Amino acid sequence: MICAKLQVIRQQIAEAAGRSGRNPDDVRLLAVSKRQGLEKIREAFQCGQLLFGENYLQEARDKIARLDPAISWHFIGHLQSNKAKTAVELFQMVETVDRLKIAQALDNHAAALGRCLDILIQVNIGREKQKSGVEPQHAGQLIQEVGKLTHLRVRGLMAMPPYAASPEESRPYFKALKNLAGQFTAAGLFSPDSPVELSMGMSGDFIVAVEEGATLVRVGTALFGERAG
Ligand SMILES: *Cc1c(COP(=O)(O)O)cnc(C)c1O
Repeated sequence: MICAKLQVIRQQIAEAAGRSGRNPDDVRLLAVSKRQGLEKIREAFQCGQLLFGENYLQEARDKIARLDPAISWHFIGHLQSNKAKTAVELFQMVETVDRLKIAQALDNHAAALGRCLDILIQVNIGREKQKSGVEPQHAGQLIQEVGKLTHLRVRGLMAMPPYAASPEESRPYFKALKNLAGQFTAAGLFSPDSPVELSMGMSGDFIVAVEEGATLVRVGTALFGERAG
């Protein structure tokens, strides 16, 4: 069941990449497994899915301890600085850095563990009051400041557009995030060593996100079904 869904989603990603003249290999699928059981994650893993995303640290810790160490994990939830140590221990990438204080906490703990942590800057691309993310007009400055921290690598941008009833409504926000990344690249804010990551698109709109340049799509319910609780 999950294998079949994975195949369909991968095919949809490949086709969307093709439509926009992109290499499908430049788009990674992040399987969002929050509030999904271990059996579903194992099933996806057995079908070749190696990259998963979690939102809650305690839940992630319990799951990661029980699952194959070959799996890579991205943190996509709201992070508090007093939980930064756990996040550094568990995750290969933290996609939701939206203020300097969090970045400094992650940097400290990464330094203590003698490693370098990949992060994305979460941008509040729709400028919504209730949403996390740095405002687009302040994102450049944040990247500059975070860029000085020696145990973090700013790999790109992440965003969650306003809730939309149809995927086309998300398209302008995906374009805006891509434009922002382009400006920052032109300004030399991203390392030229690796392609800039754009984490955008969820179950409802990942196809449009790939058409607009996503390098990471975060898909939960379309792969695993409805979440528990
Ligand atoms: C839960 C979540 C997702 C996945 O949402 P679906 O609609 O289930 O695909 C993606 N990104 C973030 C940040 C999330 O919290």
